[in-house]
This record gives sequence, C-alpha cells and structure tokens, in this order.
Amino acid sequence: MSFRARLPRPGMEVRGQGEIAVLGMARSGRAVAELLLNEGYAVYASDASSSTDVQEIGALLHERGAYVTTGGHELDRIKKAALVVLSPGIPPEAPPVRAARDAKIPVVSELEIALDFLAGSKVIAVTGTNGKTTTTALIAHILRALGKQSVPAGNIGMPLSTIAAKPEKPEWIALEMSSFQLHDTPSVKPLVGVLTNLSPDHLDRYGSLEEYYADKAKLFANADAGSRWILNADDPSSLAMTKNVKGKKSFLSLTSPADACYDTGSLTLKVLGRDMIARSDLSLIGSHNVANALAASLAVMIADPAFTEPDARERIAEALRTFPPLHHRLERVAEVNGVRWINDSKATNVSSTKVAVEGMERPTILLIGGRHKGEPYLPLADAIRRNVKCVVAYGEAAPIIASDLSSIVRVQTLGSDFEEVVAAARAAASPGENILLSPACSSFDMFKNYEERGDRFRELANG
Ligand code: ADP
Repeated sequence: MSFRARLPRPGMEVRGQGEIAVLGMARSGRAVAELLLNEGYAVYASDASSSTDVQEIGALLHERGAYVTTGGHELDRIKKAALVVLSPGIPPEAPPVRAARDAKIPVVSELEIALDFLAGSKVIAVTGTNGKTTTTALIAHILRALGKQSVPAGNIGMPLSTIAAKPEKPEWIALEMSSFQLHDTPSVKPLVGVLTNLSPDHLDRYGSLEEYYADKAKLFANADAGSRWILNADDPSSLAMTKNVKGKKSFLSLTSPADACYDTGSLTLKVLGRDMIARSDLSLIGSHNVANALAASLAVMIADPAFTEPDARERIAEALRTFPPLHHRLERVAEVNGVRWINDSKATNVSSTKVAVEGMERPTILLIGGRHKGEPYLPLADAIRRNVKCVVAYGEAAPIIASDLSSIVRVQTLGSDFEEVVAAARAAASPGENILLSPACSSFDMFKNYEERGDRFRELANG
C-alpha cells in the first residue's frame, strides 16, 4: 500500500497526530521534509546534532511550517506520529527509531515516500556491495546518450525526494539503493533491478552477514512474472539469493558466456550476442569496471527493446567510451617525479580494496586504514603479494591490519596524522611506482566522510 493511502488527507492533521516525523535532517532528510511540506503534510523534523548546518536547515524547515527540534528527538511526539521517515545514517537501535517501532508506527525510508510521487517515471534500481554508484552513473549516462531524459538518484548523492519535488518528473531514473535504504522501502518495484555483487560489508552495523544480505534481498520483495533482473553469474552469493525470485533474469559474466560478457579471446565486451566495445576503449580502469559496464548496458537494453537496435547500440558504445571517471574511485590525482598517485578513498570495505589492488599494473605503496568495520584483511593477501611493495597502515584499524598482513608484506604502522601517513608513502615510493589510497575502512575516525579523505589525499599528493 502506498504511504499516502495510509495517512490522513494533507492539511487535515491534528498537530502531533497524523504528522510525519522525519528523523535526521541531512541531505535526504531535508529533501523529504521539503517534499512533504510542499504536498501539504504536517511535518516534525528532528536531528540529534545541533551543528550550525543542522540548525540552518531546521530554521528553513520551521519557516516552511515544520515543527523542528535540533540537538535531540522528542520521543513522545514521534510515538504519536502517523509515519516515521528514517535517514539512512541513523542506526536501527537509536532511541527514536526504537520508540517508533515499539509504538508500532510505520518506519519508512525517504525513498519510499519519493517513489510514491514518481509513479510515472521508469526506475532502474541498483544495489549490491560494490559498484553501485559507478553502475548507477553509467546507466544514467547511457540513457542520456540514447536521447532520454534521465537522472542518477538515491544513495549516489542526489536525494530522490529532490527529484520528486520538481514539477517536471524525469522519464528515467537510475536509482542507487543501499542496504539501509532497502530495509525500509517496502514498495520498491523497479522496471529493472540490478544486483552487482555480494560480499561482507557493514559488519559494524549489522549483527551478521545474513542480516546484511537479507536487506539486499528486499530489492526482490515485490518480484512478479513481469519483473526484470540483472544478476552477476560470477557471484555465487547473488545466484543463491535470487534462485527462487520471480521474473526474467539476465546475467553478466567476466569469465563465461552470458547475456552480457567479457570475451577473453577477442578482448571485447559483448551484450545480447553482439560486440559492444573493445575493452581498451572503455574509459574506466580495472576488471570490476568491465563488470559495471556490462551490468549497465544490459540493464538499459533489457529495460526497452528499442535500445537493442543497431543505432542504439552505437550510442551505448559511445557512452561507454566517454563516461568520465568518478571522483574517489581509482582516480588518478597526481603524477609527481614518476610516481602515480591514485585516490580510491571510496573503497571502504575489503572486497573493494582487493579489486583496486588487483588492477594495479606497477609496484604499489598501499595506504590502508581508518575505522575498522569488522572484516579481516587477509583476503587481500594474494593481490598484495602480486602488486604491493609495502603497506602503510594507519588510523584506528592500524594494529589489526598489521597483525593480519605483517607476515605477507612489509607494513609500516602509523597513527591518525594523515600528513604523516602520506609523507611515509611518499618516502617509500620510487619512480615508476604507484601510491594507492584504498583504505578498506570507513573514514570516520579521522574525517567527516570518504570524500574529505580523498580530497585531502589529492591535496597532499600535489603539495
Ligand atoms: P558502491 O557505490 O557500491 O560503493 P562504487 O561504484 O562507488 O561502489 O565503487 C566503490 C569501490 O568499489 C571502487 O573504488 C572499487 O574499488 C570497488 N568496485 C567498484 N565496482 C566494483 C565491482 N563491480 N566489483 C567489485 N568491486 C567494485
């Protein structure tokens, strides 16, 4: 049932009852509060923080008619709300979430609300452990190359509610969905759904791997015979999860024939039986990006048969040739004295660091560290043996990294002074080598987010 069907008509609410409580006022919280206020709903917006940014947003929402608290949540008010909208950054055991669930108030994500206002748009939804943002951005880019009006949205950084609030709705939406967002988006039913891959992540927030995978599986919650799914045939966990899911399944593979595959003989990407482009023409580096390009092309072609025509194929191929590399994802940020500096700050789990290290074609000084997320670092061992000269381990996770990897490679253990970390990497590198920041950890012990970490790395590399 859509959330609107469950609520009193806009403008008819008694304050504190029948209002919608929006928990968290960062990007997506603010956007959904604004959308709901535009639509005439009574909104209570709250945030545990009272930073200047939050206070400014609070003042704006208050001016537009919301009841606002910063520096804390009014639990009694939340318990009386008709609906709670939860920002993905708020953990499920946080007191306001618990209060809402205990009071049996429905808790939904910002996406659940926004999707309700975007019923006329065609949605290609993307989830998975790694490659979501790249695949989402590629899909939007390909659709634009096909002359379609399309936007990337969701976890990629553009709140879906911002798009839903615009008077003109886009024809196509490429929607990145994190596991946290899927958890509370019960109505999700994309035209095409993409599951890039599955591997351990977020074990700091989930009690077990099964719980994390269970949230990812919510992409398929409303599957029926008309559903269309893009799946990774190389990933046993994805195949196991989707074994009994209804709908048409199309597969990609880097190693075997599939609907979209990499032909290791001709070194080309093939989609639906025909060559798409030569791997050397793909603008992105690394095998994982071949997988992302295959997933994105296949998703678009499965979404509309017109996109399989020869002229459309030409345009898709051109889009893959011209896609600009995304920031903080194996991004070359400097070349100084023969040393190449590569920023992969977005690699916040072990599996993404693994593909980054595997993609290195020169001896590499690897910077790993930050806040430990619960995964062991040993799965990096083979790739490190092949491509890494030494590891600089830093931040809170440094002792764990050193204990996991010291028998495999020289590990220099440092603290939380990032300038010192970068200086150590510079001192260790010789001409013809790479310095790769691919931390396998979150950034929160030392930075606001992974973007700030990557930006600082770029500055120091060029400094
Ligand atoms: P996500 O949005 O899922 O975090 P991104 O596209 O932002 O994924 O990529 C983040 C990091 O994950 C990249 O820097 C790269 O190291 C790794 N990665 C990207 N695509 C894949 C893939 N298909 N398989 C495995 N790892 C990947």
